[in-house]
Amino acid sequence: MAEKITVYVRKGRTDHERILSFNRPPDIPQTDILEAGMAFDGNAVVSAVEWNDRAGHFIHALHVGDEPCREHHQSLAGALRCAEAQLFTWLVLHDYEVEFA
Ligand SMILES: [Zn+2]
Repeated sequence: MAEKITVYVRKGRTDHERILSFNRPPDIPQTDILEAGMAFDGNAVVSAVEWNDRAGHFIHALHVGDEPCREHHQSLAGALRCAEAQLFTWLVLHDYEVEFA
């Protein structure tokens, strides 16, 4: 049976930033985590969804597969949905059951 991972979504430094985080899964290689656009923060894995002034849209580094997301998200909700869907797929591919909190 797949182990469950709880993904937390919290506000970042500004109203236009959210941080996705979950406890570091011991069985996923660190390179896989970095390549998927996430970073280590103590025992947690984190990734931001944020407004980018230069780009003029919301961005997120989190992605499944080789290509980063190229969508020009105009809303935080849209960018979050995209990042969360990719994280969900990525964790399921690594045999985890996902719950957002
Ligand atoms: Zn996206």
